[in-house]
Amino acid sequence: MRPEAQRLHLYNSLTKEKETFTPLNEGFVGMYVCGPTVYNNVHLGNCRTFLSFDLVYRYLQHLGYKVRYVRNITDAGHLENDADSGEDRIAKKARLESLEPMEVVQRYTVDFHQVMAQFNALPPSIEPTATGHIIEQIAIIEQILESGYAYITNGSVYFDVVRFNEDQSYGKLSGRKLEDMIANTRELAAQSEKKNPQDFALWKKAEPRHIMRWPSPWSDGFPGWHLECTAMSTKYLGEQFDIHGGGMDLKFPHHECEIAQAEACNKTSPVRFWMHANMLTLNGKKMAKSTGNHILPGALFSGDNDKMSKAINPTVAKFFMYQAHYRSILDFSNDALMASEKGFYRLMDAVALMDQLPASPKGTSSEIDVTAWRQSCYDAMNDDFNSPILIAQLFEGAKFINTIADGSTQVNQEDLALLCQTMKAFLFDVLGLTPPQEGRQDHDHLKSAMDLLIDLRKSARANKDFATSDAIRDRLQEAGIQLKDGKDGTSFSLKNPNS
Ligand code: AMP
Ligand code: ZN
Repeated sequence: MRPEAQRLHLYNSLTKEKETFTPLNEGFVGMYVCGPTVYNNVHLGNCRTFLSFDLVYRYLQHLGYKVRYVRNITDAGHLENDADSGEDRIAKKARLESLEPMEVVQRYTVDFHQVMAQFNALPPSIEPTATGHIIEQIAIIEQILESGYAYITNGSVYFDVVRFNEDQSYGKLSGRKLEDMIANTRELAAQSEKKNPQDFALWKKAEPRHIMRWPSPWSDGFPGWHLECTAMSTKYLGEQFDIHGGGMDLKFPHHECEIAQAEACNKTSPVRFWMHANMLTLNGKKMAKSTGNHILPGALFSGDNDKMSKAINPTVAKFFMYQAHYRSILDFSNDALMASEKGFYRLMDAVALMDQLPASPKGTSSEIDVTAWRQSCYDAMNDDFNSPILIAQLFEGAKFINTIADGSTQVNQEDLALLCQTMKAFLFDVLGLTPPQEGRQDHDHLKSAMDLLIDLRKSARANKDFATSDAIRDRLQEAGIQLKDGKDGTSFSLKNPNS
């Protein structure tokens, strides 16, 4: 473990405070994140939430933790309305497009994976599906019924929120009080199978036309949406685990119900740290599939959309998202993205200089405090994964690199190595950025052309044609390319354009 791991603080949505992070089992972290409902293509808002947790996953691993990261696929049980009404989202899509529900699931799971790979997000350690855990969900319902916090009506099973709230408290995550919820509800209990409108489905009896159905002790039916996450998190991470994440909009009712279900079974709070990522907006409004106010990642990357002035590289889009803290709302706009793009390439230009920086001899003193700078990178991430502050520090690192390259700052070999290694670790391992492909290709082309010129100059010199060899060197110099003759041959470096 890195010593910096001792100083990680994260904001716990349950206590509404920043707390020191200590895992249940030393050296190991169990993290569960609610995954997508695969009835449609993921939009950039969904991606922001998953990328926020990719950063958490990567940084925990960077600190030296062994992380078991479970992110589910919701492939059944999520109804159109987040309460318990409407059609199953996947079944509806299947009906509208004359597909098998599992065809819908397959298509959009593949799309999700492709998009995540384009963003260079790491796959989770386990990616379980709701339909693969029906047996576990039924077992949990039996346990909840046994403890008296659920009841059966017409083959469906509902969680009895009022009964639960008599013994334990319902609403602690969202800060809602059950009495207020009851007072504010207009739904008439008499028209429903539920004793109380706040109760939620654990199992729903399927109507005859409902195609996604499984046998159970109560009816042929399907599990309620909240249940899958309790079943899968408990199965893979235990009755209590370290971190549970999701988008802010899942806090209520989804996560509140997860807490109630787990506490009804095990009497202990299931999650030690709840983390919620804030929303991505477009023109000031939440990005959502249902309202049409969204951009799909594919349309952003290809430029085929009416919101951006050109195609955007996935890494640039990810960099843009990380320039905001995960708990802040972020608005997606053309101008903000263009500014991020410039900044990203500025960082990448500095990275390209890293392998050719001159160092003063070992042991001589440096003109910049690289150790203090490195510490501020860790301080940023240890302060609730503050990526915008980290990125500001990386720009500072790029400034160091540029001034070392143009000779205006001296650093010794140890500090230079630390500077380059820290820049690479945070840019590529922690933020998971990738240098853009075109840049790489440009660099490869430049290298081939330079190898040719260096060879031509060498043979001119061998033929004592100094006029040609000097002309090559001088013309390159004018173009901002410096040749350096050393004992291992000739190398070249690019002059910093800002100098
Ligand atoms: P869903 O597929 O609707 O279950 O959502 C998958 C994840 O995306 C959940 O964690 C949501 O909270 C999150 N999400 C949905 N819309 C947005 C948005 N506009 N910005 C950020 N996250 C979102
Ligand atoms: Zn969930």
